[in-house]
Amino acid sequence: MVDGEGSCGQTVVCGQMVEGAIMALGLRSPLLERAGFRHAFFGRQGGVSPSPWDSLNFSTASGDAVSAVRTNLQRAAAEIGVSAEHIYYLSQVHGCDHRVLLGQEDREALLFEEGDITLSSVPWVGCGVRAADCPAVLVADRVTGSVAAIHSGWRGTVAGVAAAGVAALRALTNGPGDLIAAVGPHIERCCFEVGADVAAQLAAASDCGAAAVVHGFPKPHVDLRQVIEAQLRSVGVRDVDHVAGCTMCDPEQFHSYRRDGPRSGRMLGVIVAREQGARLRQ
Ligand SMILES: [Zn+2]
Repeated sequence: MVDGEGSCGQTVVCGQMVEGAIMALGLRSPLLERAGFRHAFFGRQGGVSPSPWDSLNFSTASGDAVSAVRTNLQRAAAEIGVSAEHIYYLSQVHGCDHRVLLGQEDREALLFEEGDITLSSVPWVGCGVRAADCPAVLVADRVTGSVAAIHSGWRGTVAGVAAAGVAALRALTNGPGDLIAAVGPHIERCCFEVGADVAAQLAAASDCGAAAVVHGFPKPHVDLRQVIEAQLRSVGVRDVDHVAGCTMCDPEQFHSYRRDGPRSGRMLGVIVAREQGARLRQ
């Protein structure tokens, strides 16, 4: 069943075998699925990493073995039907810089390039962001099939990274497109406690204002979903889906930096462009 583990994702046959062994790895947005975009918000289930990164982890920075992370990536790649060499993510720095991907880049080199947005129009390129509490936002253009993955933690949200990602996608496609988006699991309003200064910055980051700040706790909590959705809608994203899950509340399904500290694993949100005008599923 796991014959060829460690080198899977290279061939169709092997990819099918892996996919069959780990069906339903990761969470999906029905909105993106209906529009024909392969994507996933991968949690921590279904990988090979040992504790404390168990078991699906996409970073070696907190001490996990290169071989384990490689196998995890191959499993994720098989799940969404692209080669592991063509799933890209950057060195994320809570900023607004982006990287357009053509599929010819050296993914190992890109791991050291700073940026928080990956985007592409190439149908066999996976645009990824990694996170362990921060929201991954996947954006897709129903007109051109192009996509973007955005890392929108609170600093990036304050900086307007979701709007920056939309702008970069429109520059890539040379048009407004017909954009849809999905916000993945992250540290939700139940657990996202912040200081008054951060709450004020997030309240100023979208037109939902202070309504995104949740009171009734000893310190303010913030609803990042609400802020990010408002930011996306303000730049003309037509539909926004929410893939629910609080990373801090659910240690079975998710890694959480705030819960587990610097040795926590990292999750992956990834989306693949589709052919322009491709027939939609269903
Ligand atoms: Zn929670």
